[in-house]
Amino acid sequence: MQTFGIYIHIPFCRQKCFYCDFPSFAGRESKIPAYLQALEQELYLLRRGQAEDGLCGGTGRLAPVTIYIGGGTPSVLSLPELEALFALLGRQIDFAGAGEITLEVNPGTAAEDKLQLLREAGVTRLSVGAQSFDDGCLQAAGRIHTGQEAEKIILQAQELGFADISLDLMYGLPRQTLPVLEHSLAKALSLGVQHISIYGLQLEPGTAFARMQEQGRLHLPDDALTEAMYDCINETLPAAGYHRYEISNFALRGHESRHNLSYWQDVPYLGIGSGAHSYWQGRRCFNQDSLAGYMEDISRGKVLAHIEENMTAQAHMEEYCFLALRTACGISAAAFQQKFRQSVHEVYGKKIAVLAERGLLRQTGDHIALTDLGMKFGNQVFGEFLL
Ligand code: SF4
Repeated sequence: MQTFGIYIHIPFCRQKCFYCDFPSFAGRESKIPAYLQALEQELYLLRRGQAEDGLCGGTGRLAPVTIYIGGGTPSVLSLPELEALFALLGRQIDFAGAGEITLEVNPGTAAEDKLQLLREAGVTRLSVGAQSFDDGCLQAAGRIHTGQEAEKIILQAQELGFADISLDLMYGLPRQTLPVLEHSLAKALSLGVQHISIYGLQLEPGTAFARMQEQGRLHLPDDALTEAMYDCINETLPAAGYHRYEISNFALRGHESRHNLSYWQDVPYLGIGSGAHSYWQGRRCFNQDSLAGYMEDISRGKVLAHIEENMTAQAHMEEYCFLALRTACGISAAAFQQKFRQSVHEVYGKKIAVLAERGLLRQTGDHIALTDLGMKFGNQVFGEFLL
């Protein structure tokens, strides 16, 4: 049986956050029932197409090792819609072999009865999009919840027995100062979550923030403050026992996200739903972002139909290195040799030596990985791995 993961995209949100350019829509809840039908049809078409390739277990259903339900906001679905989602997933996917089933929740749309349902449905891991515990920051970023609501959801999830809770935080937000960030980090630590993902704000075209920037109405922390925030995060979390296993991800040992690790370790995955991306049989494919376009494709039986890239050996090698370097383990020379029938030192030896000399890479036994400095200037390192 081939090892692969499944990502399910739920593209609905109560309101669009000001920084967000993900394929998600506000005010389209009336489309949810039709969308769920399309998800089931897509899974069915993939299952039928892949059965002979050994991707279905003895049950005839798709048998991934990890499942990640993200968005958008999966928790925006009502209780009956969540029930319908898990019923259709159960018809098409064999959950038994999935060691990790993650679902993203937004504190503004998750209530205790939904958490209870998720627990009973087999979700093993909750990813809570808190972003900050400071109400001023949350409001300035267009979030629909307060810090207290985020805290409440985590406490309720813990009460219900979720033993794998991940928290999303952001830095570099409007109105965020160093003490405000420190307060959010301290709150995350006091709640005892197992995993923390923390991303710096990126200004993406087409977002409300990008428009505010053009109009001179966006006031962000300056570069020095943003760097101080970055340093604060990377000192505070490891000191509290959260190891930095990927550039933006920290976890207590044994609580790393298996699904996300598989993205960085060249494991194939199927992306289901509008705007979802797949990495399948050496190709990168995507589904259309628009609900109408996606549903039209599925009604015509088109799955894995939009090819972003048919990866050449060279592109595969470059991407393998970028992705592996994002993780603390970095590139395994033995795994590289096995995959590409070439030594990583033959291909990249000179560049590795120069980057190590500059303090950006370190070599330990079989592994070539970013140093702390390399993590800070990751893009410079990744650029050197383009052939
Ligand atoms: S809730 Fe998430 S997906 Fe929805 S708009 Fe906000 S950041 Fe984007």
